[in-house]
Amino acid sequence: MAAAAPKIQRILLKLSGEALAGGKPYGFDRPAMQAVAEELRPVLAAGVQVGLVVGGGNLFRGLPAAADGADRATADYIGMLATVMNALALHEALETAGLPARVMSALAVTGVAEPFIRAKALAHLAKGRVVLFAGGTGNPYFTTDTAACVRALDIGAQLLLKSTKVDGVYDADPVLHPTASRYEQLDYDEVLQRHLGVMDATAVVLAREHGLPVRVFDMHSRGALARIVRGEAVGTLMSPSASDRSGR
Ligand code: UDP
Repeated sequence: MAAAAPKIQRILLKLSGEALAGGKPYGFDRPAMQAVAEELRPVLAAGVQVGLVVGGGNLFRGLPAAADGADRATADYIGMLATVMNALALHEALETAGLPARVMSALAVTGVAEPFIRAKALAHLAKGRVVLFAGGTGNPYFTTDTAACVRALDIGAQLLLKSTKVDGVYDADPVLHPTASRYEQLDYDEVLQRHLGVMDATAVVLAREHGLPVRVFDMHSRGALARIVRGEAVGTLMSPSASDRSGR
């Protein structure tokens, strides 16, 4: 009997730069990138279209550099270029694993990546290629969480998947507080009011304004991504509240 069709046809996956560093404090870890490829493999095989935004925190972040006295906008451009380096590294790891992929950048770096053109991105996705969206939003003063929301909306993703170090959103840091409990579901305003730090506030507000559901999960949990696209409730879902859904 043929496998059941996935419930979700197009996703936007957000990985932090740290996800490419494995446990290292800086740089790349090849096994970590190969593990990303193995998590994507069954999802692509099921026919799900995958857009991916990768952060830059394993290489450079603008905010701490600005706190050290650097010009904020310049520091942010360096951070955006870090995301381009990450996208190139991950692209190579995916292709080596036999998964077709393309890098599209919001910043012009035409020697190494295509410019972001929405119609072309959609064409790549339709051909089963993972599209790695590099360069964040292309603007300083934003983060790649916001870029992930923008790209998810841009490509019409049904779900934004944000991978974190723990398996969802907790009411306290589960590393420091072993009794912390995980939320199954939250609405956007709860995330903002409780300062849950799932994503930066700009990203949460953007998701709220457009009713974009966001699932927070741990990519290191093997098979979690595949279970999510089959419709399983893995991690924590951030979505419109029941009252919003009823059109109040
Ligand atoms: N950045 C930016 N504009 C964007 C996205 C990212 O200026 O639209 C810069 C910002 O300096 C940020 C850095 O790129 O600190 C790396 O991105 P981020 O901190 O989101 O990476 P992550 O924490 O996900 O690894």
